[in-house]
Amino acid sequence: MHTMDPPAQRKSKLIRGAAGAWEVVIGMEVHAQVTSRAKLFSGASTEFGGAPNSHVSLVDAAMPGMLPVINAECVRQAVRTGLGLKARINARSVFDRKNYFYPDLPQGYQISQYKSPIVGEGEVLVDMPDGETVRIGIERLHLEQDAGKSLHEQHPAMSLVDLNRAGVALMEIVSRPDLRSAEEAKAFLGKLRAILRYLGTCDGDMEKGHLRADVNVSVRRPGAEFGTRCEIKNLNSIRFIGQAIEHEAWRQIGIIEDGGTIAQETRLFDPDKGETRSMRSKEESPDYRYFPDPDLLPLDVSPSLVDDLRKTLPELPDEKKARYMRDYALSAYDCGVLVAERALAEFFEAVVNGSETAGKSRREPKLAANWVINEFLGRLNREGRDIATAPVSAAQLGAILDLLADGTISGKIAKDVFEIAWTEGGDPREIVDGRGLRQMTDVSAIEKLVDDILARNSAKVANVKTNPKAIGWFVGQVMKASGGKANPQTVNDLLRKRIGI
Ligand code: ADP
Ligand code: MG
Repeated sequence: MHTMDPPAQRKSKLIRGAAGAWEVVIGMEVHAQVTSRAKLFSGASTEFGGAPNSHVSLVDAAMPGMLPVINAECVRQAVRTGLGLKARINARSVFDRKNYFYPDLPQGYQISQYKSPIVGEGEVLVDMPDGETVRIGIERLHLEQDAGKSLHEQHPAMSLVDLNRAGVALMEIVSRPDLRSAEEAKAFLGKLRAILRYLGTCDGDMEKGHLRADVNVSVRRPGAEFGTRCEIKNLNSIRFIGQAIEHEAWRQIGIIEDGGTIAQETRLFDPDKGETRSMRSKEESPDYRYFPDPDLLPLDVSPSLVDDLRKTLPELPDEKKARYMRDYALSAYDCGVLVAERALAEFFEAVVNGSETAGKSRREPKLAANWVINEFLGRLNREGRDIATAPVSAAQLGAILDLLADGTISGKIAKDVFEIAWTEGGDPREIVDGRGLRQMTDVSAIEKLVDDILARNSAKVANVKTNPKAIGWFVGQVMKASGGKANPQTVNDLLRKRIGI
């Protein structure tokens, strides 16, 4: 741990106000829904989208006399997450009652860990697009219950309450104030999400609210003490996080440059306006009257449980990236893209190594990476699909790369075959044979095309002699005449020989 430079020595990310430079300081509190079939203290289902109040046990509804029983799987998930964040696992942690009144909280308190969380300090390494890696400290991770949901639009005169979500386990992951720009904050959440998804401890589905963040923002003059922060509550998309931070930083800079001071408060982001607005000031913030929940014993996590869980951890994005850079000699950038989603990394490895035939010769990693990133992932993103529903399998893409590598098809035709496989399906080898897409190997046939084009464009031939770069035009013409099936290198060689350059 603590292997990187401290934040103060990082590349500066200053922004320029009307009266000089400012630094933005950000810390995040991320709520991640624990992947578990049952809730934190009851056996009710956590399934999303059931009929209102269909997943509610007597414990979740806070019937008198009901007692919470800790769900061991949620504890294991929190420990796994802590290990994935390279964090200290606390042998003993305590559940407290956080008291407040709200209609979607039947107990009248939330059970949460306050002074003694299950996980202590850790870190997340975040790769920025400019190649810098920033280390973001994790302060703690604690377990707590989610609340229910108030529905205000179902009835003209009443609010209704759905308790399906009440009691579902959340991990609150708190970062240190180590982030220095909206870009870093967005990249941090993206990386944290990737780690959680690799671990299988949270599905990271922000649209379902399974991952949401409170963002704390302050500004300061470079090198000065931290400024007063404002907290923006409950952001449920990475894009909104970026917009909220930008807006909030400029709002604070404007106030200070006008001679004002920042009042610590809780704010909300309005996505339609792209603005933050005040929700409550520090003085109005509730007094939660925390105390240890008398219905729950302190939570003990044994060293042997931690060791056992450590052994079940998958290879995480940082380790996978390092292995790809070493084994496949790919750039940091390519590796970062490939490991961002576990499913994409697995797809790439299946393309490079061949998944079905053991001992099959390895394909060229850079070629495979380019195709997986540019053609495959690019296409998925454009169509808003994910890998699970991709129409082209790793075996199909691998077969296209083999046809390309052994000279059966040209790069141009390979893209056509990919297109056909994507839209119509099929075995690439059969697509190539069935449609007569094999590369022309008969040199005399290519020679004939070359001579044809040269004869019809004699004026341009003279031009190429003084300006050899203009040969590209001729290559293009011959390729076109061949229906993309001539080998571009052969075409180039023949043209040069004929023209005499
Ligand atoms: P509280 O106890 O009020 O919740 P914490 O000290 O736990 O406050 O901090 C909550 C979050 O606010 C953390 O993510 C932390 O990194 C962040 N934070 C603390 N001070 C600042 C600051 N001056 N500017 C921006 N973020 C901050
Ligand atoms: Mg806090």
